[in-house]
Order: sequence, then structure tokens, then C-alpha cells
Amino acid sequence: MTHIHIVSIFFRENILINENVLSTSYKFNVKKVVSCMSTCNFPVKITYPFDETMLHNGPPHDSNFGFSYAKRMIDVLNTAYSSQFGCTYTSVISANVFGPHDNFNLEEGHVLPGLMRRIHSAKENNTPLVVWGTGSPRRQFIYSLDLGRLFLWVLREYDEVVPIILSVGEEDEVSIKEAADMVVEAMDFKGEVVYDTSKSDGLFKKTASNAKLRKYLPDFEFTPIKQAIKETCDWYVANVETARK
Ligand code: GDP
Repeated sequence: MTHIHIVSIFFRENILINENVLSTSYKFNVKKVVSCMSTCNFPVKITYPFDETMLHNGPPHDSNFGFSYAKRMIDVLNTAYSSQFGCTYTSVISANVFGPHDNFNLEEGHVLPGLMRRIHSAKENNTPLVVWGTGSPRRQFIYSLDLGRLFLWVLREYDEVVPIILSVGEEDEVSIKEAADMVVEAMDFKGEVVYDTSKSDGLFKKTASNAKLRKYLPDFEFTPIKQAIKETCDWYVANVETARK
């Protein structure tokens, strides 16, 4: 399948999800809808940290333009449903999520579950751990249990139509190498760690501001990342047979 096909399927499927979910919600008088967007939906040319007001200010990265343009339409539809019919349809934009029950598939999954799975098999086979890329890109990670708590708050308390970024702060952004080191420590891996620089680094960073979230919830406590990684590693080891992969 060519790149352009993948892009158009992503565009079409996501537009259909948006349209079906919101029009059906309206039809059945659903009181509140919270849809999800991603930090990769923001323009590629942007100042960091970016915030909720910058979502539509330019084209997204080439690698996900179909997906990102479609996801942005959630905000357009939310605004339209709100101004025309007074609906409380809103959206959240989360940082890179990880946690128990993650997708541990090496091709489809994200970096933390990927590393957990690789370390688990590197330990069994006495082979090195291969980390993709240089290790220098930086990411904000959010533990799924924290994101779950924030989702409930959004559902119950957040009544704006415009999106809110759900992320740890800029100060909690870590490099992929730092993240890999934490997984290595949590899984007590003693073998060699190799960086495969033939693999893409992707975006160097996509630092998001959580100032809006902090204005609403100044005292919200995120699980410390080392603890969250440890809990996820322990979950994977205990559920390796049935984990999604
Ligand atoms: P995204 O780039 O924010 O969409 O998230 P990913 O989790 O897919 O990748 C983040 C970074 O981790 C990129 O720089 C990847 O090159 C790097 N990375 C290192 N090892 C892995 C791995 O095993 N899986 C994935 N997905 N990314 C990895």
C-alpha cells in the first residue's frame, strides 16, 4: 500500500468516526461528549511549548497530515454543534500515553511498551536491547491511570468546548534515552543497550504546555514517571502471555 493510500484511509476513517459519533450523540441527546486528539495534530511549524490556541495555525507534519487534519475537524464540529445547538461537546489532547493493557506490538505500539517487550525477550535470549533512533528525541509521557483520572474530571467538570491539553509539564519531558534507562532499571536488565540509528527518530520534540490544565487543577499529582514505568513493567511481566501484542 502506498503512503498516500495510508494517509487517505486515516483521513476518511477518522472523519467518519467524528461524524458518526457526534451526529449520533446529537440525535440521541447525549449531554456531553469528550473526544480525543493527539499532540501530533499540531502544526509542524510552531513555537514550544505549544498550547490549545495553536491547533489550527498551519499544516501538520507530512507523516500524519491525513490523520491530523481529520482529528482537527473534531474541534470544528464541536464548535459548530455548540454554536448551533448548544451542545457540550469538547475534546482533550493527551501526551504520549502508556500503562497496563498497552499495545505491546512492536510495529504498532509506542516506545515504552516496545522497550518493555524487547527487554523481556532480550533477558530470555541473552541478547542486547535495541532502542530505535538516537535516543535524543524528547517526549512528555502520561500514565494511563493519571489520564483516566483527568478524563473523569473533564467529563464532570470541564465545560469549555475548546480542547484542553492533558499532559505533564514541560519540566517533566524526558529524552528517549532517559526513558529507556528507566525501563532498563525497572526490569533489572543487565545486558548491552544498542541504539539503532537507521531507525527514524520522528519529531525531535512536541512539547506541550499544560498551563491551562494547571489553571484548573493546580494540585493534581501525576504519578512519578519511574513509579508509573515500574508498575507498567510489572504488569507486562505478570501478563506477558495475554498482553496485546
Ligand atoms: P511518537 O513519535 O511521539 O508518535 O511516539 P513513539 O513512541 O512511536 O516514538 C517516540 C520515540 O521513541 C521516537 O524517537 C522513536 O524513534 C523512539 N523509539 C525507540 N525505540 C522505540 C520502539 O521500540 N518503538 C517505538 N514506537 N519507538 C521507539
